[in-house]
Amino acid sequence: MFFHLIMTGECNLQCTYCYGEAVKDADVGFDDHNIDYSLPKTINYHIEDLKKFCLQDPECVLTFYGGEPLLCTEQIKEIMNRVPAKYFMVQTNGLLLDQLESEYVNRLHTILVSLDGDETLTDHYRGKGTFRKVIRNLEQIQNNGFKGELIARMTVAEQTNLYKQVTWLLDNNEFSFNSVHWQLNAGFWRDYDRRDFKKWLQISYNPCIRRLCNHWANQMEKTGSVPRLYPFLGIADSLINGEKTLLRCGSGWKNYTIQTDGNITPCPAMWGMKKHYVGNILYGSPTKLKQIHVDEPCNSCDILGICGGRCLYANMTKRWTQNQYSLVCNSVRKLIAAVTENMPRITRFLKTGKLSKEDFSFIKYNGCEIIP
Ligand code: SF4
Ligand code: SF4
Repeated sequence: MFFHLIMTGECNLQCTYCYGEAVKDADVGFDDHNIDYSLPKTINYHIEDLKKFCLQDPECVLTFYGGEPLLCTEQIKEIMNRVPAKYFMVQTNGLLLDQLESEYVNRLHTILVSLDGDETLTDHYRGKGTFRKVIRNLEQIQNNGFKGELIARMTVAEQTNLYKQVTWLLDNNEFSFNSVHWQLNAGFWRDYDRRDFKKWLQISYNPCIRRLCNHWANQMEKTGSVPRLYPFLGIADSLINGEKTLLRCGSGWKNYTIQTDGNITPCPAMWGMKKHYVGNILYGSPTKLKQIHVDEPCNSCDILGICGGRCLYANMTKRWTQNQYSLVCNSVRKLIAAVTENMPRITRFLKTGKLSKEDFSFIKYNGCEIIP
């Protein structure tokens, strides 16, 4: 099982699509979700209890999460010293990566670092100077011996040209990534009416998906390796193996979140939603937690088996109306169609031995939600 450990609810950035939207949404409550607004700022459970909880599952993977988890380096080190997880991962904005000693950084299996693309775009969304500081830290951890997977985790919204930014992240003079995941800023806040989402999706994002997917397959042909563009990778892996999927981020069935008070929720975005708690590290068992799955409209959707339902949080909280959200679903269809169109080429690469099935495999539920 996979667990996000919320180390703190605090963050050292005020990104437009997270903090900015939260401020604008402050008066739009979640009354029907029975929110606990008094959660401890940092973990207040005993690490020994977390250890006992994880020991019940030899496959237990822990991902440090926040807020910004690296505001809590001492607790992270203590957990890494005492809890025998199969892997440790972190999802971070990268600003404090230089604060965690390399003996710990180098034990991380995966680092997901929030970057939205090049310097101009990242600093636009995340604040001036963010990009430069993060890149300096990434260079430092690599120089200090980090050999795990480093994933650029983009949030994409109206200022993003997806094709331009993803291809830049894959190949540039500053710091190139082999692994990129992107997530649409959609359905998270009651923000639809104050945005230009529909127009951007139609004239920019959707066309970019197809172009980028073709570029992805071209790169395979050219280099004989598979760039780890997670939205494409996850769908292609399912198509190659003929698998149906449940929610691809794993929330509510394979991937849960442990809050700072030890209560367990299906996903990090459901922090404090008492109605959806599924247990506590003191009395829950990692492999026997209650499962929660997406509801309508996904249950009646003809592509549920390949989409998986996109986002349990969006499905449950319905911050966007069905009409508004259908734009996102339409875009999911275009993503799946783009990968499907490239499958004959990919099948040929597999048949001729240019690529193997393993080139498309990845650790599922590693924090990449696959369906943006
Ligand atoms: S495309 Fe939309 S409705 Fe269909 S399964 Fe995915 S999120 Fe649910
Ligand atoms: S995709 Fe939705 S349900 Fe899954 S982790 Fe992200 S917010 Fe939670």
